[in-house]
Amino acid sequence: MNAEQYPVSEILHHLGERDFPSNAVAPPIFQTSIFCFKSFEDFQAALADEAHKFIYSRGNNPTVNLCERKLAALEHAERAKLVGSGVAAISCAILAQVKSGDHCVVVDNSYSWTRYMFNEYLPRFGVTATFVEGTKIEQFEEAIRPNTKVIYLESPATFTFKLQPLKQVAELAKAHHIKTIIDNTWATPIYQNPIDYGIDIVVHSATKYLGGNSDLIAGAIMGSEEDITHIFNTEFLPLGPVPDPFMAWLIMRNIRTLHIRMPVHYANALGLAKFLEERDDVESVLYPLLPSFPQYDLAKEQLRGGSGLFSFRLKTRDVEKIKKITNSVKFFKRAVSWGGYESLFDPAATQFAPGKPIPDDRVSLIRVHAGLEDLDLLKADLAQALDSVR
Ligand SMILES: *Cc1c(COP(=O)(O)O)cnc(C)c1O
Repeated sequence: MNAEQYPVSEILHHLGERDFPSNAVAPPIFQTSIFCFKSFEDFQAALADEAHKFIYSRGNNPTVNLCERKLAALEHAERAKLVGSGVAAISCAILAQVKSGDHCVVVDNSYSWTRYMFNEYLPRFGVTATFVEGTKIEQFEEAIRPNTKVIYLESPATFTFKLQPLKQVAELAKAHHIKTIIDNTWATPIYQNPIDYGIDIVVHSATKYLGGNSDLIAGAIMGSEEDITHIFNTEFLPLGPVPDPFMAWLIMRNIRTLHIRMPVHYANALGLAKFLEERDDVESVLYPLLPSFPQYDLAKEQLRGGSGLFSFRLKTRDVEKIKKITNSVKFFKRAVSWGGYESLFDPAATQFAPGKPIPDDRVSLIRVHAGLEDLDLLKADLAQALDSVR
């Protein structure tokens, strides 16, 4: 793959930014729906290649394209497509590979709407899926069939944090002419570049760290020029999950600090994970870069670092205690999602309607996002919340 290879800070601060109108430092926002042509010939030439030309902003837009150039370079990809949400990135990437009668292999702990795509949506069009745990290559070998077109990965997954052996899966897939797609939202391009392991297509929820401020919804698809152009023509143009220029501009502004933010999320998550692991009221902590993690060796091999998201389980199964702890945190916000500057506290028990029974393995499972606050402040906040039910 002939990707643009630059150091991260060159990508974030300079790539594509040398010749702005009026010597502006910040990129201009091209808030326009259409682009006009000097002649019939120019008009005709543009229409013959909508995937690469400025015609109409449902296709390409200069502000969006500059953001895409940076995102592609960050993921060591030839091309990126910015889209309206992470789920749009996931669904466009998958839909572009399958037709009726095809089969997919999917990691069973992937993002909830990804599982919906394979469980509910694709079966309506005659596309079937086999779900695998995905921690061992044998599970993929056993699941593939002659009509398998996609192996869908998420490593680490964002609930169980289980990893897949990326190099082995990529080799297996290539030998069977199967496309590999991975959700790389957790690690970000700062800590993992799946394309370097031979994975074909990378998807991101840019809502998380690429946005980084909990103020936008976006997604990105990265891959070869051929794969992204195919997705552009067959899914992006007809389905229309358009990223608006201002959102692209916000992402460019926010990724300028991505390489500065990620090490702080990493240090805070690891610090909190270690702190929780030592408490006697905590049953287990799931963070891939914690030495006690079952796949720690693979994590060290595949990841250059970790992000701020992890989970832990308390020993108690008393939902009243979980409620009290959740209501006691002061700096952590009670909210879904993650990837912003702020720390979050998200108990799995909130996903069950009031009064409904909660399975034993969910009652005391809590997902934490370590933000950019001072680690001691966060530790003290968790300590006082957990101590409130001692
Ligand atoms: C949030 C998330 C998504 C979905 O992204 P949206 O931007 O909310 O559409 C997909 N995958 C993972 C791992 C996520 O955390």
